[in-house]
Amino acid sequence: MSSTRIHQSPLTPFKTTQFLESLIQKDHSGALKRQFYPAPEENDINDGHEDPIGDQLKSPIPGLVHRYRNRVLLLTSSDCFALCRFCFRKTLLTKRKNIFLQPGHIARAIDYINEHHEIWEVILSGGDPLTRSDHDLQTIFTAIEAIDHVAIVRMHSRAPVVNPARITTRLTTIFETYAKPFYFVLHVNHPAEMASEVLRACSQLRKSGAILLSQTVLLKGVNNSAPVLADLLRTLVKNGIKPYYLHHCDRAWGNSHFRVELETGREIMADLRRSVSGICLPTYIFDIPHGYGKVPADRSYLNNTASGWQAIDQDGSQHILPII
Ligand SMILES: *Cc1c(COP(=O)(O)O)cnc(C)c1O
Repeated sequence: MSSTRIHQSPLTPFKTTQFLESLIQKDHSGALKRQFYPAPEENDINDGHEDPIGDQLKSPIPGLVHRYRNRVLLLTSSDCFALCRFCFRKTLLTKRKNIFLQPGHIARAIDYINEHHEIWEVILSGGDPLTRSDHDLQTIFTAIEAIDHVAIVRMHSRAPVVNPARITTRLTTIFETYAKPFYFVLHVNHPAEMASEVLRACSQLRKSGAILLSQTVLLKGVNNSAPVLADLLRTLVKNGIKPYYLHHCDRAWGNSHFRVELETGREIMADLRRSVSGICLPTYIFDIPHGYGKVPADRSYLNNTASGWQAIDQDGSQHILPII
């Protein structure tokens, strides 16, 4: 592939994998290419935000985000196998901001978790945590296993879709030997991503004892259609993966061409409720900008009022958002 054909965004370098390229070749819908190939609209950075969900505001030490009392996010890696054009951490990833867990800083993050007895769950995110070496992952799992008050480890990754070869026996052995429940949340957006190699990687994860969930971002031109999402959700459930979240797209820099109106998202969810089984339904979720956290995108938390959108966070505080 010639890189001269590709429009270069000032914000996000272009990065895919060989495996993803093979899927893109086969995908006549164009939904996969749209997620990973730069578009001219990316230069339109006036209406988005560098850190839309406020990670930096809630990061007590580099690599760790403590937004909710009972769980922490470990930003395990600032790297991904492929770069999604709509990413909400894209500028943080590409500028290599010091919010990610540096190779030498695992012990510091573990100390923080050890000292905070209210932490019940540790979530490995990034970047993609599976870009870290097996050795580093083993270190993290071993350290967390020894902390009595941590009941659950969860990992959010796109690796099975963009680089299924990363799911090796050596890797799954780490999960298999880990004594506590391990939840693996697959980032997947379109049925064309559910290739046989991907399903095989998921099956290997399942055999290691991991409990599989999925998260999907609602994206214009990719999956803003109830039939497309119904297909994806059924395929996930058929393969032992429980749909967890459907994310309303965060207003990140340069992703305006991917955003779907919240009311449209609600209509798609209503369509899905009519067309798929209850176990196929994810929660449509909205992240209140600037660190106020996630809430379901329904009327008990989000209402369109005369002064703008009114969001009610988990503590009951109200936030007026001119646009969402
Ligand atoms: C999204 C997120 C979580 C996880 O939230 P769940 O609703 O439990 O999936 C945890 N910490 C931070 C900082 C997050 O952004």
